[in-house]
Amino acid sequence: MKNIYLDNAATTRVDDAVFEAMEPYLRGMYGNPSASYSLASKAKKAVSNAREQVAELINAKPSEIYFTSGGTESDNTVLNGFFELIKGKNGCLLTTKTEHPAVLRTAEALAKRGGRTVFAPLRESGCVDTDGLKEMNLNAVGMASIMTANNEIGSINDIKSIADVLKANDILFHTDAVQAVGHEKVDVRELNVDALSASAHKFHGPKGVGFLYLKDSVKISPLILGGGQEYGLRSGTENVAGIVGLGMAAYVASRTLEKERTHIIKLRDALIERVLGEIPDCVLNGPGTGDLRLCNNASFSFARVNGSSLVIQLDMKGICASTGSACSSSERRASHVLEAVGIPEDYKDGSLRISLSKYTTLEEIDYAVEAIKSSVAFLRQITG
Ligand code: PLP
Repeated sequence: MKNIYLDNAATTRVDDAVFEAMEPYLRGMYGNPSASYSLASKAKKAVSNAREQVAELINAKPSEIYFTSGGTESDNTVLNGFFELIKGKNGCLLTTKTEHPAVLRTAEALAKRGGRTVFAPLRESGCVDTDGLKEMNLNAVGMASIMTANNEIGSINDIKSIADVLKANDILFHTDAVQAVGHEKVDVRELNVDALSASAHKFHGPKGVGFLYLKDSVKISPLILGGGQEYGLRSGTENVAGIVGLGMAAYVASRTLEKERTHIIKLRDALIERVLGEIPDCVLNGPGTGDLRLCNNASFSFARVNGSSLVIQLDMKGICASTGSACSSSERRASHVLEAVGIPEDYKDGSLRISLSKYTTLEEIDYAVEAIKSSVAFLRQITG
């Protein structure tokens, strides 16, 4: 049976170079970086090397990189930390309705502690409407969290222009770049953000490790207290092998990103053209095939098809894909992202997210198109 992996927004295959870099730190070099013998100093050096590799990928200083357990922890840490800085002054958070639950649920928790949330206007593509943002009254807003790229529909925000508006209003700005780092060019100096979250397993690193970039002029309180690792911002013995893997994934991405992007975009556009051209009553969610769409994302909705049933049909044909939504088929509700961008009623249940990687081939895309076509036809036939 075929095994075609097209769910790279959920997680990615670990790069061979990443695996090889990690292995010694799971076997011989297992010292705790905080200890003072030479076995430990090797681990400490490896962590510091990884910090440099990550910093290089996003054009930060190594001292601005804090290792965490992933995107969720980075989002929670920075939002709680920013909230402590601004509460009592202008405690309002600006975000979008299409953020990952790691941001939206944290915003809800902050609301219980006296915070308030306002939402930036969105275009139909899911991108923040920067002109609309300029017209908003931002006087009460002290912090913002706006994602670089959306995990369901692939919309890329113009973070630099958003930062211009926010900085003019003296607002602390965090971006969740979990889907963008390692795939799109991300330069924190150019983007002018105060903080950024990323996760290794989304760009061929291991699961359970990520980082928070925090501009060195911004100091926040830790979420996790203990032995004071990670400059006191994130206590707990370092996940040395994971951090080394993240560093290597960043190193590989720094050197190959442009070439891989070109390959992936070619496949993405071929997929989108064929699906839209060959399957009736199908729409592309999010932006068109230009630079506003994440290079590896294709999100479709089909009328008269249930997305979860489609994912099962594709699985039976050896394809891993997802609905891209947090909805459960029993609830039969569209995802919060599709709701936010105003998907037409007839298409609400039928979403399918295909997310590609550097390992995806044209043969796999051709096979996937045929499989989607036959599965959609089959599901429409059995539901009448
Ligand atoms: N933010 C976004 C945009 C994501 O897509 C994800 C994971 O899907 C996360 C945060 C959470 O990252 P992690 O799995 O590393 O906790």
